[in-house]
Amino acid sequence: MLRNDQLDQWDRDSFFHPSTHLAEFARGNLPQRVVTGGSGCYIQDRDGTRLLDAFAGLYCVNVGYGRSEIADAIAEQAKELAYYHAYMGHGTEASITLAKMILDRAPSHMSRVYFGLSGSDANETNIKLVWYANNILGRPEKKKIISRWRGYHGSGLVTGSLTGLELFHKKFDLPLPPVLHTQAPYYFRRPDRSMSEADFVTHCVTELEQLIETQGADTIAAFIGEPVLGTGGIVPPPDGYWPAIQAVLDKHDILLIADEVVTGFGRLGSMFGSDHYGMRPDIMTIAKGLTSAYAPLSGSIISEKLWSVLEQGTDENGPIGHGWTYSAHPVSAAAGVANLQLIDAQDLVAQAGAVGAYLNAAMADALKGHPHVGEVRGEGMLCAVELVRDADASVFFGADEKVGPRVAAHMLEHAKVIARAMPQGDILGFAPPFCLTKGQADEIVAATVQAIAATLQ
Ligand code: PLP
Repeated sequence: MLRNDQLDQWDRDSFFHPSTHLAEFARGNLPQRVVTGGSGCYIQDRDGTRLLDAFAGLYCVNVGYGRSEIADAIAEQAKELAYYHAYMGHGTEASITLAKMILDRAPSHMSRVYFGLSGSDANETNIKLVWYANNILGRPEKKKIISRWRGYHGSGLVTGSLTGLELFHKKFDLPLPPVLHTQAPYYFRRPDRSMSEADFVTHCVTELEQLIETQGADTIAAFIGEPVLGTGGIVPPPDGYWPAIQAVLDKHDILLIADEVVTGFGRLGSMFGSDHYGMRPDIMTIAKGLTSAYAPLSGSIISEKLWSVLEQGTDENGPIGHGWTYSAHPVSAAAGVANLQLIDAQDLVAQAGAVGAYLNAAMADALKGHPHVGEVRGEGMLCAVELVRDADASVFFGADEKVGPRVAAHMLEHAKVIARAMPQGDILGFAPPFCLTKGQADEIVAATVQAIAATLQ
């Protein structure tokens, strides 16, 4: 094995890390961690440090680390058939079985699954399919996509445009013109403190309707949203938000893409966020929890209504010109089948709901009345703590104070607990694996309370 210092140097000299301050990393001013193992809710690094991962990697290792059932399924598939493509009617037992398992769990109006590798490429697929369908339907002007500020949908050219976070646009010449953004359903940051939740829903709906009116409904193809805003701050929608948005979209014949990359397969304590909030999507994006990240795999679940247009399109134009080499990769599909079987066998969706509710209640209780805690919010196994300068007056900290990152760094160093400092605002995010115990939830809460006290004394 390489010496630690050798690997550290290679890392700084060779590795382009995503979402990293490149210059500071290369200069040696940022920490490095070489992760060597994981079990349950913990990871371990090559220095022997064991960390409680309260963000499940990037909210993706939903069943927890070290699950031999999935590792064995991957190994068996790789030995039997490591790869064959899925073009022109080819498939494997794993990919066909997984498509069927996904549809068995999805809302009943969904009809087919297209497999990709990442949440970004799945959303890229979704936009292409929506454009294709509107061309087939003879309405080539209906192409714009509405997303929300603070939405996260990936970091490609179109998907980075859909993402409504400044960091993902700045200096990349994004967003691209077909993408429009509307109000985030973020009640805590509502424009006027006197608004009730119901008023705020009306405000979001009115803004959407105005945008549709200004642009013309005949130019707008789809609306994309995460059931719960994730990377934008872990923000569950206010009561009644999704039914009200759905009504506007139905009225204007605008498709709904539910980006379930984080919420799919149990994170809210329901199989999908669409079930949880009564959304009726035309397309659902899935990734992360589909394989619990044991292998890369994503999917676009297509409704019957959209599918029939796609069939019409190929009758008129020949095979659809869209495919990835690694679509439905058998090794990833085998991981997906084993992962969904494990979730069922251990009733992990129910556990995510129950222990997630416990974590949220314990966090809210421990931080109640804290002068620097503006809000504790969450749903299922998602929880966020929003830190503010003055909770009574809702005054936020300056971005340059880096309060969120400092609190998260303190938790890591002193309590060995990984929380995520969300990229916009001083928000600590928690999205632990579904196998979290109540005892581990207590540890996360204690670490948070202690780190806030030490950082903001
Ligand atoms: N959509 C949502 C809701 C996500 O949270 C993410 C990633 O965090 C993506 C899409 C993009 O997925 P990927 O990073 O796999 O491209």
